[in-house]
Amino acid sequence: MKEMKNDNYKTMAALAAQVKGFLAEDEGEALYNLALEAASQGPCLEIGSFCGKSAVYLGTACKIKGVTLFTIDHHLGSEEQQPGQLYFDPEIYDERKGEIDSFPLLRETLRKAELENTVVPMVTWSKVAARNWTTPLGLVFIDGGHSYEAALTDYLCWNEHLVPGGYLIFHDIYLDPAKGGQAPYEVYKKAVASSQFDELPMVNSLGILKKRHAVMF
Ligand code: MG
Repeated sequence: MKEMKNDNYKTMAALAAQVKGFLAEDEGEALYNLALEAASQGPCLEIGSFCGKSAVYLGTACKIKGVTLFTIDHHLGSEEQQPGQLYFDPEIYDERKGEIDSFPLLRETLRKAELENTVVPMVTWSKVAARNWTTPLGLVFIDGGHSYEAALTDYLCWNEHLVPGGYLIFHDIYLDPAKGGQAPYEVYKKAVASSQFDELPMVNSLGILKKRHAVMF
């Protein structure tokens, strides 16, 4: 039986539903619940903020627990979001600058969701943000560039900061190649093969891994 959701949860989900993005409602709910649990172990971090749809779920859980959500995005859009491409959206195209800029919409979302004191946007590339990073993380959500190279970089840059017991979550994991690109899944499989994680049941296209505690000999 599904747990009854309180009014605060419903308000959050209704707000998230109005935000542009590619996250399904059940995926948002899973992110929210995982972040609630993970936040006791450290702050959370996501790669791929876009307009803040997932940041509403993750950030609200972090706010409840009193920890920070870091969210990384260069905000220049993916390859498929560029003018003339399949996912081009004129509402995130800055005519004056002649480029995609999703950052204003992220700020608007964080303001509406009252998350400005909880979510720290990092307007840069994952690799740059990771360069001098030292803070242990309770949860890492990988939903940035969907090329193999980008997803692999995100995994390699951030997994080392994930605490034992923390969650490593990938978006857009499609077991059937007909349903979507396979690059995130390839990286997900690489993570599983590393024996550092326990695999949890998927939620829609969320691949969920829990980092194991190191075995001492
Ligand atoms: Mg995604």
